[in-house]
Amino acid sequence: TDWVYIFGGGKAEGTARDRDRLGGKGANLAEMARLGLPVPPGFTIASDVCRHYYANGRLLPDTLEREVEGALDALERLTGKTFGGETEPLLVSVRSGSRESMPGMLDTVLNLGLNDRSVEALAQSSGNPAFAYDSYRRFIQMYASVVMGLDPSLFEDIIVRVKKRCGAARDGDLTAEHWGAVIAEYKTAIADEYGEEFPQDPEEQLWGAIRAVLGSWMNPRAVTFRALHNIPESWGTAVTVQSMVFGNMGEGSATGVAFTRDPATGDDGLYGEYLPNAQGEDVVSGMRTPHPLTRTQVNGSGLVPMEDSMPVTFQELREYAKRLENHFREMQDIEFTVEAGKLWLLQTRDGKRSARAAIRIAVAMAEKGLIAKTEALRRIDPASLEQLLHPAISPDVERVVIGRGLPASPGAATGEIVFTSEEAEQLRASGRKSILVRPETSPEDIHGMHAAEGILTTHGGTTSHAAVVARGMGKPCISGAGSMRINAEKGVLVTGGRTLKSGDVITVDGTSGEVLLGALPTVQPELSGDFATLMEWADEIRRMKVRANAETPEDAITARGFGAEGIGLCRTERMFNDEERIRALRLFILADSVEERDRILESMQVMQKADFLELFEIMRGLPVTIRMFDPPLHEFLPRPGRETEQFAEAVGMDPERIRQKAEDLHEINPMLGNRGVRLAVCYPEFVDMQARAIFQAVLEAGEKTGEKVVPEIMVPLVAYEREFKFVKDRIDVVAAAVMEEWDAKIEYLVGTMIELPRAAIRADRIAESSEFFSFGTNDLTQSTFGISRDDAGLYLNEYLRKGVIDRDPFITIDVEGVGEFMQMAAERGQSTRPDITLGICGEHGGDPASIAFCETIGLHYVSCSPYRVPIARLAAAQATL
Ligand code: ADP
Ligand code: MG
Ligand code: MG
Repeated sequence: TDWVYIFGGGKAEGTARDRDRLGGKGANLAEMARLGLPVPPGFTIASDVCRHYYANGRLLPDTLEREVEGALDALERLTGKTFGGETEPLLVSVRSGSRESMPGMLDTVLNLGLNDRSVEALAQSSGNPAFAYDSYRRFIQMYASVVMGLDPSLFEDIIVRVKKRCGAARDGDLTAEHWGAVIAEYKTAIADEYGEEFPQDPEEQLWGAIRAVLGSWMNPRAVTFRALHNIPESWGTAVTVQSMVFGNMGEGSATGVAFTRDPATGDDGLYGEYLPNAQGEDVVSGMRTPHPLTRTQVNGSGLVPMEDSMPVTFQELREYAKRLENHFREMQDIEFTVEAGKLWLLQTRDGKRSARAAIRIAVAMAEKGLIAKTEALRRIDPASLEQLLHPAISPDVERVVIGRGLPASPGAATGEIVFTSEEAEQLRASGRKSILVRPETSPEDIHGMHAAEGILTTHGGTTSHAAVVARGMGKPCISGAGSMRINAEKGVLVTGGRTLKSGDVITVDGTSGEVLLGALPTVQPELSGDFATLMEWADEIRRMKVRANAETPEDAITARGFGAEGIGLCRTERMFNDEERIRALRLFILADSVEERDRILESMQVMQKADFLELFEIMRGLPVTIRMFDPPLHEFLPRPGRETEQFAEAVGMDPERIRQKAEDLHEINPMLGNRGVRLAVCYPEFVDMQARAIFQAVLEAGEKTGEKVVPEIMVPLVAYEREFKFVKDRIDVVAAAVMEEWDAKIEYLVGTMIELPRAAIRADRIAESSEFFSFGTNDLTQSTFGISRDDAGLYLNEYLRKGVIDRDPFITIDVEGVGEFMQMAAERGQSTRPDITLGICGEHGGDPASIAFCETIGLHYVSCSPYRVPIARLAAAQATL
């Protein structure tokens, strides 16, 4: 046949491989029938019919009716029952099912085929009239709402009325007569509301239900679900018509759902719920509390597990579950029904699970030889590892939400509220924990952010300073909690009628964006065991190395702990983060004589050398890429107003001079301003200072650790080959001088970032003097698009919402534009320097889709924030599969 596929009696026309046509449900029912498992016989109408239906103004294909009649005949033979029959009536369910599971989004009709006569027959044949009439009223109710589109509350009201009238507390107390009364009222209500009688002809019922299931493909919730999960409308749904089995036949009957493993932990063994004497929709409706399947699950609840109430059926279920898991080589989520002691399987599909369980299961299956290691790697979504790398709030504690913001940096942290970075440091010094609460943060808050356990800002988005820095530090952060107000003068945080003062304890959940009252217990990430095994397997097959973006010792240590193979980006400007250093930098900017500058540079060099030495010692000979000072200088001047006054007083300077300098340095568009290599050309003595500090640290680290350090000095924002050459020459002169002073040899590399289109275009010429390239894809994206990341949210969100673009180019590399520049630069660079090292250090270096692209253009490494290193290791491995 063309449209219809029969299954049952140990045979099936379809297989599990036909999910595109039969939907996941239909294909797996066919597969289960082939395996000889107890599946109620049925047939599946292929999803092609759905496409046909919508392409032809809701008309069904001509030949479908004949095919469905043929399939019904087959069903009657397989079950020995007759559709519309008056002795042994064949009842069916009409079920939806798409290629990807869309749980609860599409419609289903159960108990179809019942009418005023067949209900009598069912009462006779089952010997249980209450069950028969209950099934009939369920059918009418479902049909009326799904097919006729009537409001379900109409029917609930009727049941409530009838129960009251006859003094019944629960549905189960109603007799066949009571249900008969309910049914009579249902029919009247339908005739009134719908203007037509409830259909008695099973054929008519069947086609009504088939059309309704096809129609549910376009219902608003299904449309929204598809949009959210990128499911194309063209897939359509299949329709499965299946003979009914009954879990509501009384004692010895039940319905339930079983997972082959615990979906939260991944522990092997059956896990799930069941309801005695119930039909499928009772489990979902939440009207009754389901019971656990196993004794392990009971956990003091006092509920009787299926393992004890139906021991034989339970063992049978366990055995089928294992068979299904071994057959599909995946954890399964199984729907089952027990009809008077006989077990039936109604559905199986790959089970949804937590990140932790996913790893557990994949590793266990690979170790058992059920799947290959590469398959285990493929099954883990790298982004999901994020959940495992940070502490999380214990799942079973009560949460009092006092505010909400953007989930800017994942993880949970508890501490006392502090409103200034100084307080955060004081608390830390006395061994207390704090949450830094600010309208927004600036570079001057870095020390406070370090000292605090978590950060909460009332302004700013997910790319604000607080968010970006917190992510880099791996600290939980909530940004833009707009409903909370800080009153700095009173030193209080006002939120929804509550006033919190400094010292009050709160918890921030940076994963959900919730601000919670009080201290909540957290669970620590588990990085050993299965996680470690998976990472090992990833390391075995990946080609690209993974480095980290890090400048502080803490970050470098974290990065190494997560398996980083070097530092791909040390942002030296971030090393000017404590008071002493910011002050030195400001004095340098404000100095008006060469002598004064030289004096300041000398003191800076001592500090920088100490910084580099510490990093080299931690990294023990692994590559360290150090980027020369990058941002525009004015960012480091005190802010106008009080901060300027305070600074002027502290250093004994006329505040006017600072204001003047700020004005001189003011730029209309600092992102396109005097920064990167441009600063280096304007202030070459600053480059000399940094280079000297690096080389001295190299020699000292070599002496201390015995490990050879080969620093990679990186010049940012290069466009002209000659501006790079200008800076490189200065660095080479400093290197020669230090080598002579120390009478020692230093190996080092000098390279460029590729973050401007001109650099990509001139990459062959630049590579003549540049020994490595590192793609700064944040700036390269800004400069390729001509947009500023800081305000791009204003319109990019609109673009995403309106479907003008599919992905935010600051999250995933724009392969067609920015990617083209990268590929061009890689090829041109290699044309003049075949052994040039190629890496990426933009935030894209931690994004799995971008990492896959980096593999295709042959980069040697990716560099990302320390907490993304495991994600990058896995993504780099997947990129080779
Ligand atoms: P969904 O895709 O929303 O889960 P299903 O088609 O799986 O919808 O149907 C929902 C529930 O209806 C099933 O879990 C099962 O309990 C019940 N059901 C469906 N078909 C039958 C059947 N032939 N016999 C008994 N129960 C059924
Ligand atoms: Mg289902
Ligand atoms: Mg840059």
